[in-house]
Amino acid sequence: MKVFVVNCGSSSIKYQLFEMADESVLAKGLLERIGTSEAVLHHSAGGQRHDSPVEAPDHSAGLGLILEAVTDSRIGVLANLDEIDCVGHRVVHGGEHIHQSALIDEAIIAVVRANAELAPLHNPPNLAGITAAMSALPKIPHVAVFDTAFLADLPARAFRYALPKDWYSQYHVRRYGFHGTSHQCVTLRAAELLGASTEKVNLITVHLGNGCSMTAVAGGKAVDHSMGLTPLEGLVMGTRCGDIDPAVVFYMARRAGLSLEDLDRILNKESGLLGVSGVSNDMRDCLTAADDGNADAALAVELFVYRIVKYIGAYFTVLPGCDAVVLTGGIGENSLPIRRRICQGLRRLGAVADEERNKIIVGGKTGPITTDDSPLPVWVIPTDEELMIARETQAVVEK
Ligand code: ADP
Repeated sequence: MKVFVVNCGSSSIKYQLFEMADESVLAKGLLERIGTSEAVLHHSAGGQRHDSPVEAPDHSAGLGLILEAVTDSRIGVLANLDEIDCVGHRVVHGGEHIHQSALIDEAIIAVVRANAELAPLHNPPNLAGITAAMSALPKIPHVAVFDTAFLADLPARAFRYALPKDWYSQYHVRRYGFHGTSHQCVTLRAAELLGASTEKVNLITVHLGNGCSMTAVAGGKAVDHSMGLTPLEGLVMGTRCGDIDPAVVFYMARRAGLSLEDLDRILNKESGLLGVSGVSNDMRDCLTAADDGNADAALAVELFVYRIVKYIGAYFTVLPGCDAVVLTGGIGENSLPIRRRICQGLRRLGAVADEERNKIIVGGKTGPITTDDSPLPVWVIPTDEELMIARETQAVVEK
C-alpha cells in the first residue's frame, strides 16, 4: 500500500510518500513560503534532492506542484497518481470527541472547521490541505490523524481547569493538548528500546521544536500534558509565552490599551524565545547570541530550560515511576547545549549525563545521553510524525 502523508502549515506543505510493505519513504519534501514570490519546493527521491523556485499562490496550487514532482519522469517515483492508495492528513485540533484517526467525510471536515478557533494557526491550513488533496485525488480514501487523539483520554484532574463548571460544559474550555502524534510516536519507540511493553512503560516525553510540549505517560497512556485549550500553555516556545499569570492579559489590556487581537498576537507570535531575547525564535540564534554576550538571549535560554526542568519535576511526582525522560523535536534531537543543561537540571532526580553520548546522538540518531547506570535515563528519540500518520492511515483504511 502506498500512503501519501500531507502536513500543511500556514505557508508550507510537508509531504512523504510511503511504501507500507517495508515502511520505506519513496519521496518526501517541503514546499515553503506558499503565497509569496519566494515559494520554493524541496523534493527528495532516490537519494537525490531537488530545490526549485515555484509559483505557489495557495495550498491548492502548491499541492498540484508536489503531485507533479511525485509523478515527474525525471525526479518522480510514480508513473501516475493512481498508484497512491490513500492520503493521511495531519490535523492539529480534533476537539473533545475525537479519540482516534478517522476517514474524512463531511462530519470530520465540520469537526476540523469547528475547532479552528482553538488552533487558529493550524486547523485552517490543515483544512486547506484536505480540500486541495481531496479535489486532486478524489477517488481514494483520505484519513485525518488528529494531534489531540493520543491526549484525548487524560483524567479530568489533568484536563479540567479550576474555572466555573459551565465554562467546561457549555464552552468546552479544557486542556486538549497538542503534538499528540509525536508523543505517541516516541512513547512506542521508547517502550521498544527499553524492552518494556507499551502498556507498562512510564515516561516523560518532551517535544522541543518551534512549539514545545511535555506529556506524562503512565502505562503507555498520556496522563498529563503541558499544552492546554490552545498550544499557548506550558513550556517556553519559539514565539509563544507558555505559562503566565492570566491576569497579565487584563493588566496589559488596561495598562497599555492593548486589544484582544493585539494580546493574542503578542502572546502567540511575539513572545517566547523571540520576545525575551529580542533576537530570534530560533534556538540556534539565541545560543549564538548568548555566547556572544547578549544577556537577553542568555536569559531566554535559561527561562526555556528552567521551565522544562520544573515541569519534569512536577510530572515525576504524579507518575507511578519514570523509566526515562525522552527528548525529541528539532531542539531535543540536535541541541547539545540545551540537552546538557536539561540533564544538569535533572541531577537531583537521578540523571547522570554522559557528555560523549550527548555529542554523538545528533542529526536523527537515537540513544541515551545519560550513563548506563544513570538512575534516571534521558533518551533522545527522533520523532517521526509522518510515519505515525502513515501507519494510522493504513489502519483506518484497512478497517
Ligand atoms: P517545528 O516545530 O517547526 O517542526 P523543529 O522541530 O524543526 O520545528 O524545531 C525547530 C527548532 O529546532 C528551532 O528552534 C531550531 O533552532 C532547533 N534546531 C534545529 N536544528 C538544530 C541544531 N542543529 N542545533 C540546535 N538547535 C536546532
